Amino acid sequence: MSAPAQIKALSGRLTVDLGAIVKNWRALDRISSSALTAAAVKGDAYGTGLLPVAKALFKAGNQFFFVATPEEGLELRQTLADAHIFVLNGLYPGAAEFYLANKLMPALSSVPMLEEWMDVCLAHNEAFPAALHFDTGMNRLGFKLSNTAHVRDRLGEFGYLPQMVMSHLACADQPTHEKSRTQLALFQTVLAQFPGIPASFANSAGLMANREFHFQMVRPGIALYGGRAIGGRPNPMAPVVKLEVPVLQVRSARTGETVGYGATQSVDRESRIATIALGYADGFFRALGSSSTKPGGKIAFNGRIVPVMGRISMDLVTVDVTDLGENAPKPGDFMEVLGPTLSVDDQAEIAGTIGYELLTALKMGRYERRYLEPPEHSPAKR
Ligand SMILES: *Cc1c(COP(=O)(O)O)cnc(C)c1O
Repeated sequence: MSAPAQIKALSGRLTVDLGAIVKNWRALDRISSSALTAAAVKGDAYGTGLLPVAKALFKAGNQFFFVATPEEGLELRQTLADAHIFVLNGLYPGAAEFYLANKLMPALSSVPMLEEWMDVCLAHNEAFPAALHFDTGMNRLGFKLSNTAHVRDRLGEFGYLPQMVMSHLACADQPTHEKSRTQLALFQTVLAQFPGIPASFANSAGLMANREFHFQMVRPGIALYGGRAIGGRPNPMAPVVKLEVPVLQVRSARTGETVGYGATQSVDRESRIATIALGYADGFFRALGSSSTKPGGKIAFNGRIVPVMGRISMDLVTVDVTDLGENAPKPGDFMEVLGPTLSVDDQAEIAGTIGYELLTALKMGRYERRYLEPPEHSPAKR
């Protein structure tokens, strides 16, 4: 049963601009001119909503998607019958038939995974496509480089050609970091063992930082969603999410009083405090709270920024709106948490985290979600 209108009017609104996501994909596609531009849509498309995002990107011309898990792959497959879907976490043991049934391509990253995939290919007498993921320095997932020759020989025995060979950059967000050079050199040694097989190396930051990282396919995530991929540079991407939450009450507080749990924030002037319908249960991190010794997160109203006051509760946040004077919000007005005035990255930085985490945390929010569709007659690719 859906909530009556008067209840909906007092829940937070999360607006996802699908047109901005498509615009960002096209912009990245232009940068990576000769490479295919795919889309990383894991983590519910970084919290923005897997299915609406994937549908919009597919319609705009993107055919290649990277998810993390087979469940995410299944959800995507049920909506997009013709998409090419890579599963970054690889082949889950015993799940090969599930991958086949749903045309999911695992990023194979260990010898046991490779053997299991070869077994299922033999059983069906068909070379089902999969990627090979090599570890060039993350020590996370991927074949060890010392296994490269073994992997090559084993595939050779089956006459199996992988769909793609990939690796992942550890420090692409710091363009001058020498680790990226080292990883590139190691990746080249892997590719030399797989001549003619398409390669993929770059996430958003790698794509934006260096053409040498492009190879045949790039796999941006964060930049599609308007997040900053490279630190210390202006972010060229269009903002995608807007989060607005309603004011429940506005109250006065007097000098010497305190605000919120723990009484950690004292009031040092006659103040107006707006209490908004947002909390850590909505993914607004407790690290965004303030105390008398530490500033916290920011909230905006009509383009003006005001500070969070006191700790973040599970379902409520208190905001110091004193400085807005006459123009302070009233109960029922919506304040901006993320949007044109407050970027995901600014808010994340205050919380001591990154835009990725703030975005993926949106998933838990008790928000009404709205999707802005791309313009019907958007220009064709390039
Ligand atoms: C998440 C991920 C990406 C996308 O990274 P962004 O930094 O969000 O662009 C690409 N490749 C792999 C292996 C990933 O895990």
